[in-house]
Amino acid sequence: MTKKPDYEYIYAITAKTTPLDSDCGELCGSICCRPHRKKVLGMYLFPGEETMFSGAENWLDYERHDPLLYDFPDNWEYPVFFVKCTPPCPRQARPLSCRLFPLAPHLLQDGTLLIIHETIILPYRCPLITRKIPLRVDFIETVALTWQELLKDDRIYRLVEEDSRQRETETGKLPEILHCSSLARKT
Ligand code: SF4
Ligand code: SF4
Repeated sequence: MTKKPDYEYIYAITAKTTPLDSDCGELCGSICCRPHRKKVLGMYLFPGEETMFSGAENWLDYERHDPLLYDFPDNWEYPVFFVKCTPPCPRQARPLSCRLFPLAPHLLQDGTLLIIHETIILPYRCPLITRKIPLRVDFIETVALTWQELLKDDRIYRLVEEDSRQRETETGKLPEILHCSSLARKT
């Protein structure tokens, strides 16, 4: 039985931490919150994260995806919630993906957790990534703490593990490491 991440705890620790002292949206016109070529923004919720929403938010549209039809590990079950937002959102309620961006987890084969810049291809350029602007240490540490909690869930662990192997295969090297912690957990 997989452990469930404590989303109340995660939302509390990520509520106020920001990548920079100032609003990074001023660097790019908040491009990660704007529709791209008129396409509405969308993101997946983590398993169980939907409990942090009532379902009646007028700034969120919900879709229920079948994980078999998308690129999820085979231990994920229907439904996987995909949400589309209409900016601006109430900041205190923003989904977890928005709180963790522009950082991502990378798991080494021995279970060591690295925090790196997001490497997926985005429809926009985030200057925090492209210009490698130094991020607040407390932001990086909070993201690491959040991933330690999320990775207690076998489904999330498998997803991150598969993404990490794929990243290593595609790039042939380890990404630049912003934070490293020993997770000491393998599925
Ligand atoms: S995270 Fe990156 S893309 Fe999003 S607002 Fe900040 S600088 Fe811009
Ligand atoms: S939910 Fe909020 S923070 Fe996230 S992309 Fe939409 S407007 Fe931006």
